[in-house]
Amino acid sequence: MNLISILDILQGYIQIDSEVYIQGWVKTRRDSKLGISFLILYDGSCIDCLQIIANKSLINYKKDILSLTTGCSIRVTGYLKKSLKNKQKYEIQAKKIEILGKIKNPDTYPISSKYHTTEYLRKFLHLRPRTYLIGAITRIRHVLSKSIHQFMHEQGFFWISTPLITSIDTEGSGKMFNVSSLNLNNSICSKKIKFNNDFFGKEVFLTVSGQLAGESYACALSKIYTFGPTFRAEHSNTRRHLSEFWMIEPEMAFYTLEDAINLAEEMLKYVSQEILIHSYDDINFIYKGTKNTVYKHLNQLITKNFIHIDYTEVINILMYHENIFKNKISWGMDLSFEHECYLTEKYFQKPIIIKNYPKNIKAFYMRINDDLKTVSSMDIILPGVGEIIGGSQREERIQELDKRLEEFNLNKKEYKLYRDLRKYGTVPHSGFGLGLERLIMYITGIRNIRDVIPFPRTFNNIDF
Ligand code: ATP
Ligand code: MN
Repeated sequence: MNLISILDILQGYIQIDSEVYIQGWVKTRRDSKLGISFLILYDGSCIDCLQIIANKSLINYKKDILSLTTGCSIRVTGYLKKSLKNKQKYEIQAKKIEILGKIKNPDTYPISSKYHTTEYLRKFLHLRPRTYLIGAITRIRHVLSKSIHQFMHEQGFFWISTPLITSIDTEGSGKMFNVSSLNLNNSICSKKIKFNNDFFGKEVFLTVSGQLAGESYACALSKIYTFGPTFRAEHSNTRRHLSEFWMIEPEMAFYTLEDAINLAEEMLKYVSQEILIHSYDDINFIYKGTKNTVYKHLNQLITKNFIHIDYTEVINILMYHENIFKNKISWGMDLSFEHECYLTEKYFQKPIIIKNYPKNIKAFYMRINDDLKTVSSMDIILPGVGEIIGGSQREERIQELDKRLEEFNLNKKEYKLYRDLRKYGTVPHSGFGLGLERLIMYITGIRNIRDVIPFPRTFNNIDF
C-alpha cells in the first residue's frame, strides 16, 4: 500500500474505493450519538484537511478514538469514499486507526483548533507551523523560491553559492556580526581582541550581501544570481527588518541600470503569476482570513504597473507636502519609511521605482552619473512593505572606483578582488538585491516579517 498525502487524494490521483494509508495530525473530533466519530485530519501537504470516518466497530474506538484531541498524530488505513454531505469531495472510511502520538494533557497544548493571533503564535515558533496560516505561508515561500530559481534559469542565469563567512564589508556600513572561534570571555578580559590568533587569522564576519563574490562570477559567466541568507546587526526593531534574512542577488555583465530594472520587473511579474497558479488555495485562504489586499497586490506586480521616477523629483513632491511628515526631508537625505508609504499608498497608489540617488547615501560601488552628484541606482518600493529591491549599475572604471573608496575611507587592499575585476577586462555591469521575506509580506499581505520566515532572528530576540 502506498503512503499518500491529502494533496494526492484531493488532486484526484487515487481511485474511489481503493484502500489508502494516510497519516497526519487531528484538527478536531466530533462524535455522533450513533457511535461514529468524524476526525478532521491535516498533514500539511496542502491547506485542506480530510475527513476520517471512525466507526465504533474499530477495536480501539472507545479506548483511543474517543480520547483524540487537537494535535494528536494518527495513521489511518481505510477506503477512499466520495463524500456526499461534506463540502469536500472525499472522505476516508477507516478500517484501522493507529495512534502515533497522543497529547497527555491537552490543556497544555498551545495550538488549539481556535483562532490564534500571530503575536501569540510567535511564542511557539516550533508548533506554529501546524496552524493553517503558517502552513499556507510556508508553502507559498516554497513556491516563490522555486519560481525565482525557475525564472532565473529560463533567463539563462547560473545560481552561485557565495560565502556566508567573509572578511569584507560589502556595503561599507559596518553593521556586521563577528564570527570567531576564540573564547570571547578570555579575549574580552585582555581588552583588545587579537584576531590574528583567531580561526582565520583575521577578523571575519557574517556576510551582509553576496554581491562582491557575485560580481566576480558575473564578470566571467555573464549572468549569475545568488540566493541565500544574509545578516545585518542593525538594532532596528521594526516589522520589516530581520537580523537574518534571505536575499536574491542577480548580477549581470553588460547590463545597464535600465536593463536591470526591466529584469526586476519581469521577475516580479513572473513569480506573481506562478504564485497565482500554484499557490491559489493558500493565497485564497489568507485572503479570506484577513480581508487584505492580496489579489490587488499580485495584480499590481503582474501588470507591472510601476511608476518610474527620479530621486530629485521624489524630493520635490515630498518637500511640497512636508508638513505631513514627522521626519524632515530635503535633497541629499534618505527617505524614511513614512515617505515611502506616502508615495506608494497616497500619492501614486502603486509601486514605484526611484532612480539616481545622491552618491553620499548609497554604497561605494554604484556608478557615478555625469552630474557627479548622483549614482546610477534604483530602489523598488511597494505599498505597505517599503523597499523590496535595491540595485545599481556598478562602477566599472578603476579610477572612479578608487575615488569612491577614498571618499568612504575604505582600505584599497581589502577590496583587491573588486579592484582586480576593474583592472582586468572590466565591463559595464549591473545587479540588485531582492529581499525574499519582504516580497512574501507583499504577496501575502502579512504585516510582520517575523511571520514569513520559520525562525525569525531580530534584535534581542532569538529562539532555538
Ligand atoms: P531598508 O532601507 O529597508 O532597511 P536597505 O536599503 O538597508 O533596506 P539593501 O541593503 O538595499 O537594504 O538590501 C536589499 C534588499 O534586502 C532590500 O531592498 C530589502 O528587500 C531586503 N532587506 C534589507 N535589509 C533587510 C532586513 N533587515 N530584513 C529583511 N529584509 C531586508
Ligand atoms: Mn537599499
